[in-house]
Amino acid sequence: MIAKAVEEMFSQRKGGYLIPAEIVANVSETNNLNHALLVLTKVKYAKIPVLDKEQRVTGLLSLAMITETMLGLNGIDPSRLNRMTVKEIMQTDFPKIQAPYDIEEILHLLVDQPFLTVVDQAGVFLGIITRREIMKEVNYFAHDLEKQYLIEPKAGYLEETKNTGTKVNLVVPTRRSSSAKVRR
Ligand code: AMP
Repeated sequence: MIAKAVEEMFSQRKGGYLIPAEIVANVSETNNLNHALLVLTKVKYAKIPVLDKEQRVTGLLSLAMITETMLGLNGIDPSRLNRMTVKEIMQTDFPKIQAPYDIEEILHLLVDQPFLTVVDQAGVFLGIITRREIMKEVNYFAHDLEKQYLIEPKAGYLEETKNTGTKVNLVVPTRRSSSAKVRR
């Protein structure tokens, strides 16, 4: 369980953390690798979602996966890119989050993933949640926490952790300040 105060602060952002599907670069699983290489090079993202014809997320594709496919025994062989499809090389083992998403699960998964794909009940792609968006929020909290909460050391706990002294207890939310310095 994450702290109630942290959960509450995460839930305050209007519109949530989702980057909507309409502005997320993607490739179709039936695209050939030549096309996928072009898309990845143009959008400059390391890895993007792969969709099927029903707009369900079926995989992830990175530039590294394509370059590895080009590597043959005699060096680089780009001719394979026209003959192979995204589906043949995409990563199929990746976490998918079903909306409505739970911030605790997101925080856990983003430790190991730069972004998470979010789908509806039918598996249709809704968008992604990126580490960057979550880090922006953490940065905001780090600056704004004391404007919203009175923070006091927890006496008994502090005794035990005297040397580090970093653990605190959050109590009583105060009114939110309108002059936040850090923008979300
Ligand atoms: P960020 O946390 O913004 O650096 O994003 C992490 C990763 O999410 C990027 O490296 C991409 O793989 C993916 N990503 C972020 N934004 C987009 C986007 N608009 N379209 C496709 N992939 C994206």
